[in-house]
Amino acid sequence: MFSNLFNIVIFIVMKLNPLEFFDTYELIASPNTYSPIVPNECRYCGEKSEVLFKTDCHLIPELLGRNHFLSRDECDNCNQLFSKWESHLAIFARPYLSLSNIKTKNKVPIFQSRTDYKDQPRTSIKIEEGSTKRLIHSNLDDFILDTEKGLLQIATRNPGFIPNHIYRALCKIMLGMMPSKEFFENKDFFKWLEGTQELPEICHGFQYKSQKKYYKTPSAQLYKAKKIVVGNIAYPEFVGIISFANTIVQFYLPLSENYLINHSDQNSMNLVVYPSFAFDGDMKQNQKFKIRHITNFDQKEPYKSDEKFTFKVN
Ligand SMILES: [Zn+2]
Repeated sequence: MFSNLFNIVIFIVMKLNPLEFFDTYELIASPNTYSPIVPNECRYCGEKSEVLFKTDCHLIPELLGRNHFLSRDECDNCNQLFSKWESHLAIFARPYLSLSNIKTKNKVPIFQSRTDYKDQPRTSIKIEEGSTKRLIHSNLDDFILDTEKGLLQIATRNPGFIPNHIYRALCKIMLGMMPSKEFFENKDFFKWLEGTQELPEICHGFQYKSQKKYYKTPSAQLYKAKKIVVGNIAYPEFVGIISFANTIVQFYLPLSENYLINHSDQNSMNLVVYPSFAFDGDMKQNQKFKIRHITNFDQKEPYKSDEKFTFKVN
């Protein structure tokens, strides 16, 4: 039934008008405004039994940073069901948390690089807080110190994660706090999440690494398009923003059946970029910022990412 959908042309709007996002989308949910649809009744499966509400289910998993945002309408079974996506999100998040020295549930996670060949030294990154910050590492090839410019570059060889599992883990955070009206209009999101129904996924996302701001406590916002079609331009209805450590990730929920009823393949789909860089405070004129365009959220094979982080050192 979605055969036409794959003809949709996606345009990525990278205009330098930070207000464009807020002209197009409005905030509809965050952990601060969350309220359960019915307290102690699972929003996903309808479970009400008290014995299945024993675990502290977090709206934002603590693998993105310690927090106290708890769900009051997610049962232990559903929590367990979704946790399989989260282990991949943890692998993705670890270098950012380690390098930003952000605690998850109990401690700052230690990043360990993958080994690509036998006996390749593994890099561990751990920052010890004392009178001075100390970086503990074991593979000097991954560290480049430029003493002239006072820059330290660290290469992280991520052990590999499945991008589609990360996508599902991120979307789940949004479904957990989605207001009841939107939740019930799009019941098929849950079926997609548990894997019993396919929906057209939007494999694009955007990631910004903050220059100044660190999120000790992660945050999450769910935005909804004010209008899903303007002229012949369509916008994905729901956008999620997750901020943790030094990173802000923007992604789109899949297109639900409810959305597709109104969709015409004459329309082209536009993705508007969230102005994450604005949170770095005053920007200098002509200041450059880098937003990483994620294109593989539909990938179901492990993906090994290599990233470089640059630090100012004295
Ligand atoms: Zn449930």
